[in-house]
Amino acid sequence: MSAIPDLTSSSNATGQRTLKLSQSALGRYLVCPKQFFHADIERVPREEEPSPVLCQANAIHATLERFFGLPIEDRGTQTLERALRSVWAYHRRAGAFASKDDERRYGLEAIDLLNSFYEKFDTTTVPVAREQWVRTRLTNGSTVDGKVDRIDQALGGGLELVDYKTGRKQLDPDDVHREPAALVNLAATEATYGRDVERVRFLYLRTGDEVRWSPEREDVEEAHRRLEELVGSVASDPVFAATPGFHCRYCPFALPPAARTTPATTGARSASGHALPKPASGATSTPPTARRNSMRTRPPPSAGRTPRHGAATTSSSSPARQPDSRSSGCCSTARTRKRPGSCRSSPTYTTSGPTSTQT
Ligand code: SF4
Repeated sequence: MSAIPDLTSSSNATGQRTLKLSQSALGRYLVCPKQFFHADIERVPREEEPSPVLCQANAIHATLERFFGLPIEDRGTQTLERALRSVWAYHRRAGAFASKDDERRYGLEAIDLLNSFYEKFDTTTVPVAREQWVRTRLTNGSTVDGKVDRIDQALGGGLELVDYKTGRKQLDPDDVHREPAALVNLAATEATYGRDVERVRFLYLRTGDEVRWSPEREDVEEAHRRLEELVGSVASDPVFAATPGFHCRYCPFALPPAARTTPATTGARSASGHALPKPASGATSTPPTARRNSMRTRPPPSAGRTPRHGAATTSSSSPARQPDSRSSGCCSTARTRKRPGSCRSSPTYTTSGPTSTQT
């Protein structure tokens, strides 16, 4: 593995790295540290397939941002549709839609989602802020940025954070307090506004459901602690091990199946086609989705962490493992690719770095 460059532009008085992270970068780290490494540390420019779902989601967010800036008496389903039509061209991407009809279908579905939003949720609120960037500085000097879809005045005098969700996946109410977006936005909004956050709301446009969290002060302190731990574990991670799984399907650094090396041992196959390492005897593997949702701080590699492809490690408390033959597997040669599924011999990536997603 190549040497890991300095993550930051500075270090604090004790010589610790100080990071500047975004909410989406933290989410990437929880899904796969190696993807995070490529995207947020090496900042490898990459070209991602234009996604119709992402175009639609971004257009819906922009529509609601405009809509809640209108006087209450001007808000209606017609103004929602007009707002969508006015932002659509800005958020559509060349090649995202298979045809004009395909684009039309996504556009009409977006109108349906917005109409359903209008029916199911309160549209008379006057927000404190819309699409607002917020930032918190942690005790070691690192900063974490988030973006809140809408900030409302709460009944108790504090603030209420609203996150629009256009995807199908819905958060379990019991997991909200571990959701990275909730933790970052809660901590960063309180730091930015100097006011308490009374409630965090996730509004699901497809179902009309709402998942909400009303944190007590001790919950807020716990959220800060989790965030500090997570950022600390990112700063001290010397390996950024790959964690292959279903999410590799959407990874811009995944090699096409034909370019992956054949594993020397047989193991479970991931959705992307490369074999997963067999767990050590007696060890249990944790599904990536469970890892992402758990928001647990990962242990240091020397503390019995199961090595994964691309980064063989040993632990003093477990038997030594051999370097994984899949080290040239899904993504270790990613920097030689132009885009997923295309030419591996292209010397560089072709476009700019991480893109934000709103789904
Ligand atoms: S292809 Fe999979 S394992 Fe490799 S960096 Fe991407 S998400 Fe991680």
